[in-house]
Amino acid sequence: MTYDDPAPRVAPLDLPWRPANASGLTQLGSTFATPTAPTALPAAHWVARNDRLRAELSLPSEFWTQHDTLQALTGNVVLTGSSPYASVYSGHQFGQWAGQLGDGRALNLGDIDTPFGPQTLQLKGAGPTPYSRRGDGRAVLRSSIREYLASEAMHGLGVATTRALCVTGSPGLVRREEVETAAVVTRMAPSFVRFGHFEHFASNGLIDELQALADWVVAQHMPHLQALQGPARYTGLLQAITHSTAELMAQWQAVGFCHGVMNTDNMSVLGLTLDYGPFQFLDAFDPSHICNHSDHQGRYAYARQPQVAYWNLFCLGQALMPLIDEQAPALAALERYKDAFPAALDARMRAKLGLHNAAEGDRALVETLLKAMHQDRVDYTVFWRRLSHAVGESASVTHAFEPVRDLFLHREVFDAWLSSYQTRMAADCATGDAASSDLSPLSNQARSQAMLQVNPKFILRNHLGELAIRQAKTGDFSMVQDLCDVLHQPFDEHPAFEAWAGLAPEWASSIEISCSS
Ligand code: AMP
Ligand code: MG
Repeated sequence: MTYDDPAPRVAPLDLPWRPANASGLTQLGSTFATPTAPTALPAAHWVARNDRLRAELSLPSEFWTQHDTLQALTGNVVLTGSSPYASVYSGHQFGQWAGQLGDGRALNLGDIDTPFGPQTLQLKGAGPTPYSRRGDGRAVLRSSIREYLASEAMHGLGVATTRALCVTGSPGLVRREEVETAAVVTRMAPSFVRFGHFEHFASNGLIDELQALADWVVAQHMPHLQALQGPARYTGLLQAITHSTAELMAQWQAVGFCHGVMNTDNMSVLGLTLDYGPFQFLDAFDPSHICNHSDHQGRYAYARQPQVAYWNLFCLGQALMPLIDEQAPALAALERYKDAFPAALDARMRAKLGLHNAAEGDRALVETLLKAMHQDRVDYTVFWRRLSHAVGESASVTHAFEPVRDLFLHREVFDAWLSSYQTRMAADCATGDAASSDLSPLSNQARSQAMLQVNPKFILRNHLGELAIRQAKTGDFSMVQDLCDVLHQPFDEHPAFEAWAGLAPEWASSIEISCSS
């Protein structure tokens, strides 16, 4: 494919591009994607550079200072080897069919070879595309910093997510509720294909294209399905996506992440967290928490996420029906969610409690706890971290749990729960740890250590992101950098950043996260 619109300039940069004809949706033809050059922004500057990801990608340390890196990752030049394109998708938004959407402000630069396989590099906010509709194709500094920090925080937490390599900024202005400055995030994922890509071709009756897309996703990302032919392959595809989505929902619920805009166009077919908008990590535990101020019905409230994902999977299943042919296998593939999600969540919650073996009553133990946390608006992250430390204290068990108990107003409710938890731990030791048959100091320590690896000390609380953004707006990007460093290793102590591990301050509840981005 060639460019109708010539690239502004071509510059060399040492990125291990895969050949354009061997990567990306452009391979499938012009129905899938349109070559689109980025539109330049004035006076680009660095906002954040993810040096850890740079190293993971085995890019040289001079990558950031190489001639034109900054310009290329702002969309001001197009690199030799890169063939930018925007892809088309549709989707259901807030439960309604929204018709055609597409990469309105995302440009795929192409795929690069990395130590963890081919990855698509994508600029978000690099100007209008054929799918921008009435939008300007831009992103503001505020939302770009949030996406950068959140995706790296999720990665640090072990949650499947797209990544972010850097953010660049510009004094160029963007009109939202207020006039703000523009920014561009360089995102990375094995694929940015969404449920909505499939819905697009199904809804337009483009069945050959639907099949080509399904075959392409299988070939690129699900080689284990490659040997299957016909409907079995597409049922397998639906089942694989059902599984990875169930696993993702368990990950979100366990870390207390609320996405906020779970429209089908924001659902990755690889089960990655995708498109960070008005997301929020829970402070106080509240299952009905709504982080998106436009979500008046609470459709995407924290506790509803697993059910919404299931609804979205049905939309995907519906889109795949022309390839699966019969309803029964499609329904059977979707039905897997009903076991896969609870099993994945149970495993995550057991790990948070430091329990090695599954036992009857575990779900009730978790539910009783969450009810008590909700009743007293206990901070979700602080609770688990304090619990992890308390379990490790062996000298005086009752005394050890005081800092956890202090989080509750209804102390008697916590005490009752603690007592059942201790009974449960004792049983877990007896069956799960051959070295001891009771709560020996050693097993307390081991349990505590395991818990400290799954219960983070640091999450991207709204107020931390907000402080980093306020500083960034004055040209000081140091907090963005420090936060990113801490959030990459959220299970470490980072004593210099103790304040970021504390409860959210009073003013945090008044932060209004704008849905505009
Ligand atoms: P989102 O709510 O961010 O997932 O976006 C929904 C749809 O609107 C997607 O097709 C986006 O590409 C598009 N979109 C959002 N913001 C803009 C913008 N500023 N310019 C063009 N398209 C946009
Ligand atoms: Mg989106």
